[in-house]
Amino acid sequence: MAAAPDSEQQSSVSMEEMVSLCARRGFIFQSSEIYGGANGFWDYGPLGVELKNNLKALWWQYMVRRRDDVVGVDTSIIAAPRTWEASGHVESFSDPMVDCRACKKRFRADHLEGVAPCDSREGTSEHDFTEARDFNLMLSTKIGASVAASADAYLRPETCQSIFTGFKRVRETARQKIPFGIGQIGKAFRNEITPRNFTFRSREFEQAEMEYFIHPSEQDKSFDYWLDQRERFHKGIFKEENLRLRAHADDELAHYCNNARDVEFLFPFGWQEIEGIHDRGDWDLTRHSEFSGKDQSVTNEQTKEKFMPMCTETSMGIDRTCLAVLVDAYEEETMEGGETRTVLHIHPALAPIKVAVLPLSKKLSEPAQVIAENLRKRFNTAYDASGNIGRRYRRQDEIGTPYCVTYDFDSEEDGAVTVRERDSMTQDRVPIDEVGEYLRIRIEADPWE
Ligand code: ATP
Repeated sequence: MAAAPDSEQQSSVSMEEMVSLCARRGFIFQSSEIYGGANGFWDYGPLGVELKNNLKALWWQYMVRRRDDVVGVDTSIIAAPRTWEASGHVESFSDPMVDCRACKKRFRADHLEGVAPCDSREGTSEHDFTEARDFNLMLSTKIGASVAASADAYLRPETCQSIFTGFKRVRETARQKIPFGIGQIGKAFRNEITPRNFTFRSREFEQAEMEYFIHPSEQDKSFDYWLDQRERFHKGIFKEENLRLRAHADDELAHYCNNARDVEFLFPFGWQEIEGIHDRGDWDLTRHSEFSGKDQSVTNEQTKEKFMPMCTETSMGIDRTCLAVLVDAYEEETMEGGETRTVLHIHPALAPIKVAVLPLSKKLSEPAQVIAENLRKRFNTAYDASGNIGRRYRRQDEIGTPYCVTYDFDSEEDGAVTVRERDSMTQDRVPIDEVGEYLRIRIEADPWE
């Protein structure tokens, strides 16, 4: 993902530039925009959904498919409300909040630094804060057709709880023994008080979570192993200087957690978490055993030892990681001759469009379209015949398309096309019948090798 050697970096991206690029090119924009939007909710457009699906596929490949000891599930967003009593969320999934008595705005008590001044008091811009109060972050809803018979339920604030409640069934049906893991990607909802920084803190988001169940003697080893694995995953898609691991202080640990590290990314608004790796101990399985009355412990068939498995969790935010991918990849580059281009150096595995086919002249559309159709069977392929070739390259650079295939007047004669690579801008002449394989080797290259 290095920049072109003959270019110099001009500016790093600001959040304004990022939001503007995302809206302009249809990556991500406000939900229900025409009604003024809904605070903390976002829509992914045609390019955004490709990026997001590619990230999910990459995670799934790395965490589930490639492994013999991890299986996947896709569980419902709404679960029996008892689930959230057992998990501790009803009691303690909250942020301490303060309200300003004058302007009525609400803030997180631990995020007061730098908040906008109060505009409702005379003679001072200071807020008149209440005492801090706990505010539960779970979104609730009602289930059932009639008002009288309806029951309260919650939209899940994390995807993992159904992994715990389904632990026994999944282990038995997948014929897995400890140690093994269960992975899932899905929506989660939190009634964040102050959604902000674009998709970074939203009220509806996706998580990719994996819970790995181990014997208590393996607890520390498993934590270190998954820390390494997750670091490797992120190093495959991000520049190293934009990544760091941060340990949680004791007073930061969530109620279920014995040990935690955050994978942090350097956003324009500073270092922030994109993933948490947690040692959840036996908190969840023990609590679900108590609350459901169904013992979740396992027995080692050889030694007959009965034990409650411990759990290492890896929990990545899909939306935060997508945003980080865009920030990491963004560059405004000055090329030879002084022209600038905006380019997204996205890893080919994540790029929304893998290849664009560009006929040099509209007269060459027909054979170029045949090439595009063939490539489309394998890769997400764009076709663009409008504007001069330089402009068309820029359009693809700006959305991170790693390869452009140009069909020119010589192609008729030599049966070959020019393949231009996004980052180095180098061009190769490739026979038309070899272009699919040429691209496959490059596009499907493993990010971790
Ligand atoms: P934060 O402290 O930033 O609120 P958290 O520690 O509560 O995050 P976890 O509960 O560990 O987050 O959730 C795991 C992952 O889910 C996070 O690393 C993040 O990527 C994602 N995530 C959590 N809350 C949000 C949110 N409101 N919007 C987008 N992604 C989120």
